[in-house]
Amino acid sequence: MQDTLPPTDPTADCTAIRAHVDDVVAQEADAVTVARVEAHAARCAACRHVMAAARAYRRAMRRVGASERAPATLRERAITLMHETRDPRGPRP
Ligand SMILES: [Zn+2]
Repeated sequence: MQDTLPPTDPTADCTAIRAHVDDVVAQEADAVTVARVEAHAARCAACRHVMAAARAYRRAMRRVGASERAPATLRERAITLMHETRDPRGPRP
């Protein structure tokens, strides 16, 4: 799990938010981090899209019966591919 986002950073940028997306989706983040990530995603379409891709990835992994978390590089690659498939403009900051 990543460190908790700083409590004094109400406008955390997308990079900081995305560092926590996997943990939030995996329900491994603390409540403050979950609230911050979800609040950011509510007003940031790009991060909302990244969260949707991460959730889709988790659902897909559950369907194939994966019992372990995939390596970070594989997760990032899969999420990037899903993102590019949905949005031909590619990832946006
Ligand atoms: Zn964002």
